Amino acid sequence: MKAPIRSVRIELTAPLSGVMFPLESVPDAVFAQKMVGDGVSIDPTSDELLSPLAGTVKQLHGAHHAATIAGENGLEVLLHIGLDTVTMRGEGFTPLVKEGDTVTAGQPLIRFDPVVVGAKAASLLTQMVIANGELVTRYVPARGLVEAGKDIALSLEMAVGATHDPSSDDRSAATAILSDEVTLPNPAGLHARPAAVVAAEAKKYRSDIRLLRGNASDGSNSASANAKSIVSIMALATRFGDTLRVQATGPDASEAAATLARLLAEGSGEKPGEAPAAAAPAAEPVSAARQVSTDVNELVGVPASPGIAVGKVVQYRKEVIDVAESGDSPQRERARLEAARHEARQHIETLKASLTDASKAQILDAHLELLDDPDLSDTTITRIGEGKSAGFAWREAFEQQAGALEKVDNPLLRERAGDIRDVGRRVLALLADVKQAQIDVPADSILIAEELSPSDTASLDRTRVLGFCTSMGGATSHVAILARSLGIPAICGIDETALQLADGTLVVLDGSRGTLRRDPSAEALNQARERIERQSARREQEKLAASKPAMTADGHRVEVVANIRNAQEARDAVAAGAEGVGLLRSEFLFDNRDTAPSEDEQATEYCAVAQALGAERPLVVRTLDVGGDKPLSYMPLPKEDNPFLGLRGLRVSLDRPDIFRTQLRAILRAADIGNLHVMFPMVTAIEEVLAARKLLLEEAGDRAKRIKIGVMIEVPAAALIAGPLAREVDFFSIGTNDLTQYTLAMDRGHPKLAKQADALHPAVLRLIGMTVEGAHAHGKWVGVCGGIASDAMAVPVLAGLGVDELSVSIPAVGSIKAQLARLTMPAARDLAAAALRLGTAAEVRALLAQFAE
Ligand code: PEP
Ligand code: MG
Repeated sequence: MKAPIRSVRIELTAPLSGVMFPLESVPDAVFAQKMVGDGVSIDPTSDELLSPLAGTVKQLHGAHHAATIAGENGLEVLLHIGLDTVTMRGEGFTPLVKEGDTVTAGQPLIRFDPVVVGAKAASLLTQMVIANGELVTRYVPARGLVEAGKDIALSLEMAVGATHDPSSDDRSAATAILSDEVTLPNPAGLHARPAAVVAAEAKKYRSDIRLLRGNASDGSNSASANAKSIVSIMALATRFGDTLRVQATGPDASEAAATLARLLAEGSGEKPGEAPAAAAPAAEPVSAARQVSTDVNELVGVPASPGIAVGKVVQYRKEVIDVAESGDSPQRERARLEAARHEARQHIETLKASLTDASKAQILDAHLELLDDPDLSDTTITRIGEGKSAGFAWREAFEQQAGALEKVDNPLLRERAGDIRDVGRRVLALLADVKQAQIDVPADSILIAEELSPSDTASLDRTRVLGFCTSMGGATSHVAILARSLGIPAICGIDETALQLADGTLVVLDGSRGTLRRDPSAEALNQARERIERQSARREQEKLAASKPAMTADGHRVEVVANIRNAQEARDAVAAGAEGVGLLRSEFLFDNRDTAPSEDEQATEYCAVAQALGAERPLVVRTLDVGGDKPLSYMPLPKEDNPFLGLRGLRVSLDRPDIFRTQLRAILRAADIGNLHVMFPMVTAIEEVLAARKLLLEEAGDRAKRIKIGVMIEVPAAALIAGPLAREVDFFSIGTNDLTQYTLAMDRGHPKLAKQADALHPAVLRLIGMTVEGAHAHGKWVGVCGGIASDAMAVPVLAGLGVDELSVSIPAVGSIKAQLARLTMPAARDLAAAALRLGTAAEVRALLAQFAE
């Protein structure tokens, strides 16, 4: 039998004089969300941190800005002076004790210079939190002014008698905690984005955290990485299926190791098995994707961004930035480094704000993360300490990191070396006081460079630069991704002879084929100009179609709406000509955070989306669609052998009615503003729909009359019972991404199978046809919101099958509307009937290609 639990009261004296401040309001999520522990914050008026209780100094941080005191009863009190003070690396702090010292209540622990710390830290707010809060049953913080060492700042009630075996408590142990083995589900290993997610999570912990690959439990450099460093993680050069362990040492080691191991197993923010978003269709190494040409006037490379351009060569070379090797005092050099990084951060933020495509802005987010990379910082600071100038030390550090990445046997990671050099040069230029010139070129230029950084690319003057070629990099480089997003035709990995072309040489760049033709003949020039004209005529057609209601040439209405994630995208969708929103993927509100969003937070976003669409345009909000391939850190779902066949979509919501009801209430608030439709994902059975609808109607009250209820058809079972299912709802939307994977039994993200998982497979088309039939028999409408709806080639067959609405990606709105306008319904119906008679997706594609000609 367990010993009875009783409470004792413990009073902690104020470690500093000052004004008490609620921990929840501290402008630092880690403290405000009590990730480190519950407690108080003080806005200090004194400059000596005193121990709030008698005990021993369990930990004194290397940067001397924080200490943990272990009191009797096992209570551990963490004191943290200021916010972001760890980056000061000790500047302005004088420790007055060392680890292991016994201290009395009120004994000075750390003295700090309020002028230095106040100037450099994000804030002087000082936190006192209980690191082992599981022992505390009640917190009573003081209010108002407190005097250090005299007033009580925090009263606690602590359970005694609860089993607490200090030997099992990793907080008291300096020994490393090692997680179970995790098999990496990321097809491209931990490349920049998942590495950034892991590093961001690791930084929330105070422990030292390392990732060990294979059986390198000795932590040897070759197979282990600092989990807080994106560069170090990337340099580990992991691959799909590698086994990793997380090793944590420090006060929160157990939790850190468990959380990070879980995060890694779940794909670190990537869908497990998903091809990395950065990967273009040709994710081959440069040499493999390069065409071969026997024509000496045609230089070839990797098609990086489609389109044709005719212009004159402008060779672009980066200038070499010189820096002195030896520096001033280490303190000064560190301050210069900090100032340069601060300025670089502001430049990147400005550049980011100028990019319209949020997913491309993520590339610059990774640059921001690199700026703060602890490995880069540590190497630089060490070299500064050895007397080197900030510029010299910084250049050495980033060149070393980029060089290491270039050696790894993974094209995706090799590309990231370019990102490190980009960030590196940006800071270096600031340190050397060299103005990084905006690339200044005459009109009608085709830029040729060995390498362009993502920042160079993002700031190209689109009115003058018609296209570019680089001799380095491939289709997966961030430069290529940005070029596609900016709509600039581009070739990467071009034959190096291109670097020798004289400025002013007339060239034709074909970004779709990856060829650069120099001194084209009059005929080649004419052909290129004709193609450019055809392309721009098509674009004009699409622009025109975008502003008109979507319908076929013979007047049949098929609404074209958009798939979106947030209010900004709702505005973008309307601007692009979308007639509403056919799928708001609400899970994006739940993503990348540590706790579920509150009802108010959610309602704000749903209402903002509704506002952007206005009262008439339909808004279809899909309720939370997580589980399987879409994990959430704060909603741990049991590990399943077949997560795609387990708790997913609506099944999760019905399993967690608390979260579901909160979301429904939030969504329903948008009914007062817009034309609201609520849609449930991954429905298999009518019972699920009835249960979900009951909860929705209970929460809706009077609003029930103003909403429409629908389900996604993503599972063959739902398509097969479309008729009876249609009786229970107002509409269907077919999620062809999932419908295809469940019909063909092919994981939609599988690196080898994903290409064959084609939604134009006749089996999937038959299910779409059955869904439409079942719905129309009951007077209900059917949309398609899976990826195939955005493929202009598929439009005739979908329209021919009777689909009433196509919900497409925002950039596809114009081309899908234009495609509909070229179509007549009798032709579309004939085509659909012919497609249903075929046996393979390839045959369907061939048929549709003929139709398009
Ligand atoms: C689908 O499955 O087609 C769909 C639209 O849902 P998601 O891609 O978000 O799973
Ligand atoms: Mg789906």
